[in-house]
Amino acid sequence: MSELAIFGGKPAVDESKIPESLFKWPIVTKEDEDGVLDVLRRGAMSGLDVTEKFEKEFAKWQKRKYAIGYCNGTMALQAAMFACKMGAGDEMICPSKTYWASCLQAFNLGSTVVFADIHPTSLCIDPNDIERCIGPRTKAIMVVHYLGHPADMDPIMEIAKKHNLYVIEDVSHAQGGMYKGRMLGTFGHVAAMSIMSGKSLAAGEMGMLATDDKEMYDRAMAYCHYERNNSKYISTDYLQKYASMPLAGVKGRVNQTCSAMARVQLKYYDQRTAEIRKAMKYFWSLLKDVPGVRAHMVDESDGSNMAGWYAPHGLYCPEELEGLSVERFCEAVRAEGFGTTPGANKALHLHNIFKDYNGLNYDKPARVAFTDRDVRNLDEGITVSQQVQVYSIPWFKHYMPEYIEMYANAFKKVALNYKELLAGDEKRGTESGRWFFYTDKKEKK
Ligand SMILES: *Cc1c(COP(=O)(O)O)cnc(C)c1O
Repeated sequence: MSELAIFGGKPAVDESKIPESLFKWPIVTKEDEDGVLDVLRRGAMSGLDVTEKFEKEFAKWQKRKYAIGYCNGTMALQAAMFACKMGAGDEMICPSKTYWASCLQAFNLGSTVVFADIHPTSLCIDPNDIERCIGPRTKAIMVVHYLGHPADMDPIMEIAKKHNLYVIEDVSHAQGGMYKGRMLGTFGHVAAMSIMSGKSLAAGEMGMLATDDKEMYDRAMAYCHYERNNSKYISTDYLQKYASMPLAGVKGRVNQTCSAMARVQLKYYDQRTAEIRKAMKYFWSLLKDVPGVRAHMVDESDGSNMAGWYAPHGLYCPEELEGLSVERFCEAVRAEGFGTTPGANKALHLHNIFKDYNGLNYDKPARVAFTDRDVRNLDEGITVSQQVQVYSIPWFKHYMPEYIEMYANAFKKVALNYKELLAGDEKRGTESGRWFFYTDKKEKK
């Protein structure tokens, strides 16, 4: 009889033995509860005292002069775009493989997005594909440290300098991670990120922005914090006469129950993510020479690391498994006791919203409403974003070797016995199972 659980063998993971704490996140203790209850009991949800304390603590931790809290990461990133003076007709270069909130807000500024390809092993923006995307109206490069992996910042910053472009870092997947000994979020002119409850730094529902530049701070503040758009916070001359109004006509204030939780989460963040890192590295060390599976992680020898390992995935190499489809592979791993799914965010340039959505009631789609060139044509240069194959792996929160070994064994067993799976594999050699839009259930299959 086959060893594989999909054919009746014993599953690699004994799910009855797995403690809930192995995956539970965020870790919430009485300290979080006390902080949140204090805000509730004081009726201070719409206040600023706790948020401002967190902003100071976050700026210090993030090694930046200034930090601002927002109601969510989407708003923080939009404020970052405004801080870079993006306006009508401007373009921002963004990797095609990311969550929509890295770029879709550009439309709200009358700006647009040019998609660059990703690098096949980092899954972050490919520095070699950036210059292809630059035009006369390019204003900024959005860098996403995707699925926890640091983007290759040295060549990116060099290109930005050469072409006089702003760099925004979207750190939503990688809080606390390092690139060559330096903290992610300290490379770009501005960094912004989500710290909603699913992310590795988790505050409930909140976003953060950080910068060293006072004018950028002032713009990002004035953008959606009407009650802080005044001389107590803002010193940039040309903004003064618009005091007390949010320049975007929107409101970005944080509910302070979230700021309170954020303060406690940050206090323990480095300690907790050090354990995550240890656990994740152990998992991959067990799969080192296994065919078909490859770690999506940095080589730490140059001081880089992936602190929180948000939404970790593995790279798939079907050519080492005679073309076994990633769906069939995942199906077999699921039978072994870990619910892996193939794919991650589908390449954004393939979504209709970036093709023909006319949300501005202008005579052209939003993507090209104010641009001098049809940036949609540049989407044709993207290939890796559509080809690369991945699958989710367990996101361990604790270093518990005996359980981590069970999960690693689930992947190993399937990879080593792949031949048994070839016969029933209808998707073998097809384009399926690559990437999906999370909301598109049909494509997710
Ligand atoms: C989660 C996320 C965001 C958006 O943050 P919200 O807090 O959900 O608004 C932006 N960019 C990336 C890469 C994300 O994963």
